[in-house]
Amino acid sequence: MCLICDRIGMIRRGENPWFVRELETGYAVIGDHQHFRGYTLFLYKEHGDASELFHLAPARRAKFMEEMCLVAQAVSRAFHAEKMNYELLGMGDSHLHWHLFPRVAGDIETYGNRGKGPVWWYPMEKMYDDAARPGEAEREEIKRALGREIDRLLAEGD
Ligand SMILES: [Zn+2]
Repeated sequence: MCLICDRIGMIRRGENPWFVRELETGYAVIGDHQHFRGYTLFLYKEHGDASELFHLAPARRAKFMEEMCLVAQAVSRAFHAEKMNYELLGMGDSHLHWHLFPRVAGDIETYGNRGKGPVWWYPMEKMYDDAARPGEAEREEIKRALGREIDRLLAEGD
């Protein structure tokens, strides 16, 4: 059982409230928790045998990377990131998926090196606290902001 496949199944059934846009290689969804406002994931469409970027055929990999960059740029614009952070992990769920974090000064409070450092220096129990789950109205607002920027970038690329 794969959590990413579950979420993609929900998207395909029209039942995923976090879903924002479908691109050729993947789905852009916002994270269930929004401590880092605008935190977005880009889920590769197939589970398959590809658990590493280097498993993908070069043309497919290039497209996946290009689309991830487009989504990251949209996140950056929509949420006024000072810097984007990108993670492709997968020890838990080996299904290829990017974590895209818009970073702003102070977003890990005083954790890390006096407030500087990677997102994973912010305590997990705070990042995944119920208080960091947006209500429906806020969730829809975040999705609208991201979707609008993705659409703009896609139109610019035409
Ligand atoms: Zn999967």
